Amino acid sequence: MELWQKMIRDSVNSGEDLVKKFDFDRELADKLNNLFHIRINPYYLSLIREKGDPIWLQCIPDEKELVEDNMPLDPLEEEKFSPVPSITHRYPDRVLFLTTSQCSMYCRFCTRKRKVSDPTKISMKFIQTGIDYISAHPEIRDVVLSGGDPLMLTNVMLEKILAGLRAIPHVEIIRLGTKIPCVLPQRVTAKLCKMIKKYHPIYVNTHFNHPWECTPEAKLSCEMLADAGCPVGNQAVLMKGVNDNAEVMLELHRKLLAMRVRPYYLYQADLTKGTNHFRVPVRVGLEIMDKLRGHTSGLAVPYYVIDAPGGGGKIPILPQYVLGRKDNKIILRNYKYDVFEYPDVVEDEIVEPVTNGKKDQPSEKINEKVLV
Ligand SMILES: *Cc1c(COP(=O)(O)O)cnc(C)c1O
Repeated sequence: MELWQKMIRDSVNSGEDLVKKFDFDRELADKLNNLFHIRINPYYLSLIREKGDPIWLQCIPDEKELVEDNMPLDPLEEEKFSPVPSITHRYPDRVLFLTTSQCSMYCRFCTRKRKVSDPTKISMKFIQTGIDYISAHPEIRDVVLSGGDPLMLTNVMLEKILAGLRAIPHVEIIRLGTKIPCVLPQRVTAKLCKMIKKYHPIYVNTHFNHPWECTPEAKLSCEMLADAGCPVGNQAVLMKGVNDNAEVMLELHRKLLAMRVRPYYLYQADLTKGTNHFRVPVRVGLEIMDKLRGHTSGLAVPYYVIDAPGGGGKIPILPQYVLGRKDNKIILRNYKYDVFEYPDVVEDEIVEPVTNGKKDQPSEKINEKVLV
């Protein structure tokens, strides 16, 4: 058994463990564990500094998860876009491929709680149907391995999947969506990196939410992946008490760049049942974005996105930089709120309004011209 596997074995893994470790009421601990499995491996546990801190909030269950919030179990309607159980095919040219239900730490805010942590749900047959689907759909050029956490698979199993995908001529890029560098960096071994290298181009998107997660161990694991030739990006989630202020977000994103991780997305929290206590107003997110852009390296600025409820996909939202138009000038403001006019190109023809949607899409379409 490798070190990382031992660490999973030695995790806080049940209501009983939670009671032993944190003085929880037993009945409450069991209830929470039944709702969504508890798992906190010893590494991530060691990052907690005090009760209720940003690390604690992400991994220790909370009574608030039990509140009846009328939120959906599947807010992004992944099931609706799921032609076979292991695939979500929402966008024209790329798919999400669920390869395991397991994680080395179960995030209490998980958007895929309904599928994650149940070991009975995923088998080789489940994975093979995904590979077969991708193989039969030549429009798919980008496959995002997700779960669960694909780096919870053994090297042998992961290699089977990578080799299976690489045997499909139309698959151009493969992405690993993994929180491992943040929650169990010991899993990133020289052996793993050597194996991954054989299947390039492979991109990695990891998931750090707070600067305390940027430890020497985490840094090493990201550097190893980068040295193995994987561009590493980060997808963070905006959460109350965790990272809902600009200073924390600035520090996080600067530290990530120093670990060779490029910020990619910052997600507005989804509406998943039992996670409502993490949500913050979009205004807060926009204010944070306003304090990043221009104030630090552009490389440190992620896209702030809302994954549209009902399955519309990720929609970027930006602070207002375009204030309006005056004649042929576009009125802009910069990061210091100074106002500038940019003389636009004069177009000599009136372009007919365009509706770019397909007929089966939601009816509320807006004229593209509204946008500029
Ligand atoms: C996020 C996501 C992707 C990848 O989106 P990108 O914007 O290309 O990173 C693909 N499929 C699904 C279902 C997703 O949620």
